[in-house]
Amino acid sequence: MTSAVVLEATDLTRHYQISRGAFRQPGLLKALNGVTFSLQRGKTLAVVGESGCGKSTLARLVTLIETPTSGELRIAGVDLSRSDNATRRTWRSRVQIVFQDPYGSLNPRQKIGLALEEPLLVNSSKTKDERRKAAQDMLALVGLRPEHYDRYPHMFSGGQRQRIAVARALMLNPEILVLDEPVSALDVSIQAQILNLLVDLQERFNLAYLFISHDLSVVQHIADDVMVMYLGVPVESGSRDTIFTDPKHPYTQALLSATPVADPFRVKKRIVLRGELPSPISPPSGCTFHPRCPVAIDICAKVNPELRRVGKSLVACHVAKV
Ligand code: SF4
Repeated sequence: MTSAVVLEATDLTRHYQISRGAFRQPGLLKALNGVTFSLQRGKTLAVVGESGCGKSTLARLVTLIETPTSGELRIAGVDLSRSDNATRRTWRSRVQIVFQDPYGSLNPRQKIGLALEEPLLVNSSKTKDERRKAAQDMLALVGLRPEHYDRYPHMFSGGQRQRIAVARALMLNPEILVLDEPVSALDVSIQAQILNLLVDLQERFNLAYLFISHDLSVVQHIADDVMVMYLGVPVESGSRDTIFTDPKHPYTQALLSATPVADPFRVKKRIVLRGELPSPISPPSGCTFHPRCPVAIDICAKVNPELRRVGKSLVACHVAKV
């Protein structure tokens, strides 16, 4: 029987050495600092947090574009964290990515049909006719028409272009899709259409989604589980319902307080965080959230809280309680 877990990340870290000028030692940018999670077939794990929290670095590791500094990344049970380039290339077809800006990932001078066929040209032995048929079938699957095959990217709307990006990502039958802010650039009505398409495709192909977003109202629509990140580490994770109804970490509470709710009778008090996300080159001591935390206590500036179970969630906070 195939295991439900298709991807496991254990204590993943990614650090970058950065130059700080001719007379200073290079700095160390700790983009990811120990991230552990698993992804199941047919399920969506949403990764949320402000820009700079490590979400995009995580996407590059999971899609095997970069290697972790330490930690393990297993796909279908195989540890790929220290594999060679040839092995990673082979596995890359199983993990595909859809970016926020579909226009940026499409060649403006290439017809859409050929853009869809390109992955098959490189990774399969299909004939020209078979590739064309596969591209046309995929266009239909994502809600586009056969005649779109011969059109160029600029001839499509934003929503249609995102459908094309999803189609292209699916051409090699991946098991995992990393969706990096896939609807952030779209109007709200179009967002809903693309999210519904993603839900349909997930059911049809039993896909695992790693859904990266800063927008909690979108996450609420699509996620099964949620992992909230702050400065390169998860600070809270749990099921969508638990995170949305009973957030334990002060950062999660602040993010949720800024999310619009559909119920006009539910009045929420907005928690305004002080300051900006600190630099990952010189993170604050102890709990890295302490300079902005509205409920910080003395220990917070000295001791980094470990993730621990609080109620139904895992939470990294000294004061969180059931
Ligand atoms: Fe706030 Fe302290 Fe909890 Fe960090 S550990 S989130 S500073 S209360």
